[in-house]
Amino acid sequence: MQTSNTHGSYKELLFDKRWLEKRAGILKRDNFRCVMCCSDKHLIVHHKQYHVNKRTGEKLVPWDYHDKYLVTLCEKCHNKGHQLYEIPTFEI
Ligand SMILES: [Zn+2]
Ligand SMILES: [Zn+2]
Repeated sequence: MQTSNTHGSYKELLFDKRWLEKRAGILKRDNFRCVMCCSDKHLIVHHKQYHVNKRTGEKLVPWDYHDKYLVTLCEKCHNKGHQLYEIPTFEI
């Protein structure tokens, strides 16, 4: 079952070099500012959607997402967003 706590299981992947590189690219694209409030503090790169491989049932690794599914948020806006809505998961 999908829970809203999906970020937790991602933790170790988020230290992967491939993710750090992807993340750096997104931060740069968004000028190192939260796209919601323009804060430059405590930035997080957030996935707008999660994708699951239809065949294997496995979740995509965080760096395999297209840039358009990633967005820079500050911690405050990020927490707010996660309280307001659940991240949709799509089978691909
Ligand atoms: Zn913000
Ligand atoms: Zn998030």
